[in-house]
Amino acid sequence: MENKLQFYNTLTRRVEQFVPNEDGKVAMYTCGPTVYHFAHIGNLRSYIMEDLLEKTLRYIGYDVKRVMNITDVGHLTSDADTGEDKMVAGAKREHKSVMEIAKFYTDAFFEDCRKLNIKTPDVVEPATNCIDEFIKVITRLLETGYAYESGGNIYFDTSKLKEYYVFSSQSEKELLVGVRDDVEEDENKRNKSDFVLWFTKSKFEDQELKWESPWGVGYPGWHIECSCISMKHLGEYMDIHCGGVDNIFPHHTNEIAQSEAYLGHKWCNYWFHVHHLNDKSGKMSKSKGGILTVSVLEENGYNPMVYRLFCLQSHYRKPLEFSYEVLDNMSAAYDKLVKRIGSLKREGQVEQAKFDEYRNRFEAALCDDLNTSMAITVLYDLLKDDMNDATKFALAESFDRVLSLNLTTAQEVKEDSSVGAELERYILEKIEERKAAKKEKDFAKADAIRNELLEKGIILEDTREGVKWKKA
Ligand code: AMP
Ligand code: ZN
Repeated sequence: MENKLQFYNTLTRRVEQFVPNEDGKVAMYTCGPTVYHFAHIGNLRSYIMEDLLEKTLRYIGYDVKRVMNITDVGHLTSDADTGEDKMVAGAKREHKSVMEIAKFYTDAFFEDCRKLNIKTPDVVEPATNCIDEFIKVITRLLETGYAYESGGNIYFDTSKLKEYYVFSSQSEKELLVGVRDDVEEDENKRNKSDFVLWFTKSKFEDQELKWESPWGVGYPGWHIECSCISMKHLGEYMDIHCGGVDNIFPHHTNEIAQSEAYLGHKWCNYWFHVHHLNDKSGKMSKSKGGILTVSVLEENGYNPMVYRLFCLQSHYRKPLEFSYEVLDNMSAAYDKLVKRIGSLKREGQVEQAKFDEYRNRFEAALCDDLNTSMAITVLYDLLKDDMNDATKFALAESFDRVLSLNLTTAQEVKEDSSVGAELERYILEKIEERKAAKKEKDFAKADAIRNELLEKGIILEDTREGVKWKKA
C-alpha cells in the first residue's frame, strides 16, 4: 500500500491518516435507508460517496467487510423520539402493511443502487431481524444502570456518561435546531437528552409491528438497531462508521453512548459523514412531496451515471446544490468522456511506467480526503498524455473499479441504440460481474452469466479489445 488514506474524522474534527484495528482489514458500517418511501437523490449522494470510500479502500489493498442495516421499524418522524413511526405513516399513506412497504422500498432502494453502480454491502440486515439482539443489549444496559424504565418505556440515561456530546462542542440547544421540528416533551425522561431504547407505552395504538420483551410488548427505538447490527456482524471494534451529516446528532451520538456503555470500551475509531445535497429551497427530504428520485432523472432523459459523475465532481464535505443546468453540463461532459475512451485502440503493450505513474496519482488524489474531482482530473490528464491507447484504456478500466462510471463500456452500448436503456445497463452490469468472476477464476459463474445473457438474446464475445456484445 504505497498511498496512505487520509480522510476527515468527525470524531476528532481533523483529517487523519486511516489506521485500521487489524492490519489490512477494514470493518465498515453504513446507516441504511428508512424504507418508508423511495430514496431521493440526496440520500443516494451519501451512498455514492460511501461506495467511493469502500472502493478506494479495496483499490489500495484493504480487505473490507461492510455492513448495512435496513430501518424497517422504530424511526419516528422526528429524529428525536417524537412523532409517528415513519414506517407506520408510510403504510397508512399507501393502504398497505408495514412489511409490504418495507419490502417494496427495500427493493426499490437496491434497484436505484444498481443503476448508480453502488455496490451492495457484504451484509444487509433489516432491523426487524434482530429483536433478540436488541433485547440482549438493552437488558445489559438496565443491569449496569445505563438504562431505566419509566412510564413503561426503556430509556438510556445520558447523565451516566462522562461525555455525551462526543461529536461537537456545540450546546445541546444548538444541536437540536433543525432536528426536532415538532418538539414534544417526554415527561418520562430523567434528562432532556435521554433517548428511547424500547417503547412499550406507545401512544400510537396503530403501531403494527410489536414484539414480546421483558418489559412488555413493544418495539425498539431507532438508534439501538445500528449498534446491535454492527456488533452482530463486525464484533466489538469497528473501523469506520458512515452516514449523512444529519445522522451525527442525535443518531450517531446515541449509537456511541449505548455501544460504549454496553461494551465498556471505545467502539469505532473513524466517523465518515457526507454533506447534504440541497435543492434551491433547501435540504432535500422524503417528506416534502414530489421527491427527486433516480427514476425521475431517467424520465427526464438522464443516464444515472451522469448523476454519479455530478456527485463525484464535488467534495463529499461540501453541501451540493442540485440543478438541472449543472446536470446538463455533466451529461455533455460524460458523453464526451466515454466517447473519447471508447475510441481508444486497444492493441499493443501497456506501458508499465506510465500506468504506474498515473495509477499512483489517482490513488494519491483519493487518499487525500477522497478528492474525487482531482481523481477525475487525473483521468482527463492521462487521456491528453502521449502514452499509447492500450495504456490509456487499461488505466481507464482500472480507475473505473473505483469511479464506477461505466467508462470503458458505455460507448459500445450507446452504439447499439436499438436496445433499451434498462437492458443496456443490465448487460453492462453482467459483463462487469463476469469479468470479476473470471478474475477470481470462478469460470462456472462466468459461464452461467454468459448463458443467462444468451437466454435474453445477447451474445458475448471476448475480443482482444475486451468484451463485446451483440444481439443474437
Ligand atoms: P434515511 O433513509 O432518511 O434514513 O436516510 C438515508 C441516508 O441518507 C442517511 O445516511 C442520511 O444521513 C442521508 N441523507 C438524508 N438526507 C440527505 C441529503 N439531503 N443529502 C445527502 N444525504 C442525505
Ligand atoms: Zn444508523
